[in-house]
Amino acid sequence: MNTVTRPRILVVGAGFAGVECVRRLERRLSLDEADVILVTPVAYQLYLPLLPQVASGVLTPQSIAVSLRRSKKYRTRIIPGGAIGVDLGAKVCVIRTITDEIVNQPYDYIVLAPGSVTRTFDIPGLTDNAFGMKSLAEAAYVRDHVISQLDLADASHDAAERASRLQFVVVGGGYAGTETAACLQRLTHAAVKRYPRLDPGLIRWHLIDIAPKLMPELGDKLGRSAQDILRRRGIEISLGVSIAKAGPEEVTFTDGRVVPTRTLIWTAGVAASPLIATLGAETVRGRLSVTAEMTLPGHDGVFALGDAAAVPDMAKGKEDAVCPPTAQHAMRQGRRVADNVIATLRNQPLAPYEHRDLGLVVDLGGRDAVSKPLGIELHGLPAQVVARGYHWSALRTNVARTRVMTNWVLNAVAGDDFVRTGFQARKAVKLKDFEFTDSYLTPEQVRAHVEEARSKES
Ligand SMILES: Cc1cc2nc3c(=O)[nH]c(=O)nc-3n(C[C@H](O)[C@H](O)[C@H](O)COP(=O)(O)OP(=O)(O)OC[C@H]3O[C@@H](n4cnc5c(N)ncnc54)[C@H](O)[C@@H]3O)c2cc1C
Repeated sequence: MNTVTRPRILVVGAGFAGVECVRRLERRLSLDEADVILVTPVAYQLYLPLLPQVASGVLTPQSIAVSLRRSKKYRTRIIPGGAIGVDLGAKVCVIRTITDEIVNQPYDYIVLAPGSVTRTFDIPGLTDNAFGMKSLAEAAYVRDHVISQLDLADASHDAAERASRLQFVVVGGGYAGTETAACLQRLTHAAVKRYPRLDPGLIRWHLIDIAPKLMPELGDKLGRSAQDILRRRGIEISLGVSIAKAGPEEVTFTDGRVVPTRTLIWTAGVAASPLIATLGAETVRGRLSVTAEMTLPGHDGVFALGDAAAVPDMAKGKEDAVCPPTAQHAMRQGRRVADNVIATLRNQPLAPYEHRDLGLVVDLGGRDAVSKPLGIELHGLPAQVVARGYHWSALRTNVARTRVMTNWVLNAVAGDDFVRTGFQARKAVKLKDFEFTDSYLTPEQVRAHVEEARSKES
């Protein structure tokens, strides 16, 4: 009897890049052309640019978690878990499922889109004492934590404790850190009115960055405009400064200042997913080095994209330019990779990825925003309309768009109730606990594991 086996396309990661790729494969491949398998630890695609709005309570967490099972037409097999290693020679991906089982998934084509993790440095106490802003759990946790600082400060009779609970430090003057500081400052500014015994003057927000400017990609004028908005709101901005040491109750800046605080939010850049290092292949600052077609040289059937890959930026016209780690690129790369996987299957030529940056939108909460769509500099309400309009239209499903719009309207009309859900664990959960960066195997462990599984089978 003849059994016909279809080629297996394994997509790792259900983010901007992975989901766009999977949806395109589902639409363009006939059922008998290939099986599509997706490995993802969570059952949704997270719309990361709106995370600061979840942390500040403008949006509910569910509204930016876009379902992977919305339609009956979706035919991809989903493995709930995370890839912890890839053996490129054996064409096997090692997966840790959400129940902690280790399974080997063979593939014919693999699309690596596991995104990035928060980039940390060797700063004493950082990973034990800082929060990140990279996952839904972190955003929801930070919201509860910030509200709990107001509750605890209100209940305390100790002036020093009150002062430390009411100071907040955000590190990272890119769009993620700036939006996080801006949105959370609005949260505490509004919430403190419900705590008549707390002196609003004690609430202090610090935004610091080692670079000399906030969001340099915005240009001088808009960057200054964003700084002015934040300073008017009372956020203390320190540039050319980072963290020397982080403790549970205080943070030491590199300029020697010691700030009593229980809230350190670290958003100083991203690093490619640790999965990339398990391949033992060439990288560019940790991102997998791929061609403009997003293939891995020397390895048939391997594609990589999004934050995890250094995809040449053809639109820049410079030889060593790579696409920045943004959703804008990841989504478009996802579609192009799907086309290239299909072209490979059908023995057709592949096409390079090229996209000219559409600009940047930065939502500072309320009516405050700065945006630079297609090079046009906007601030205030027009910038906010562009920022929210862009994010709204980029959400993948109509249900997600409706949830987000409803939340925005409700928040604008009724404000926030500042509810602390209590889902926050008793034990403080920090950066190191959210991103599971210690789950991955070394390249040697991956090969040994695959080898062992093979010898057991034979
Ligand atoms: C706060 C914040 C604000 C931002 N604002 C903007 C913005 O305004 N505009 C913009 O263009 N970009 C913005 N970005 C950047 C943008 O979100 C990323 O560039 C984009 O998400 C990258 O897409 P990706 O598909 O590569 O990774 P992600 O979207 O991060 O997706 C990766 C997926 O892989 C999964 N995964 C991770 N590890 C594994 C594994 N080992 N196995 C299986 N699955 C795995 C993850 O759960 C996730 O679902 C922002 C980012 C943050 C954090």
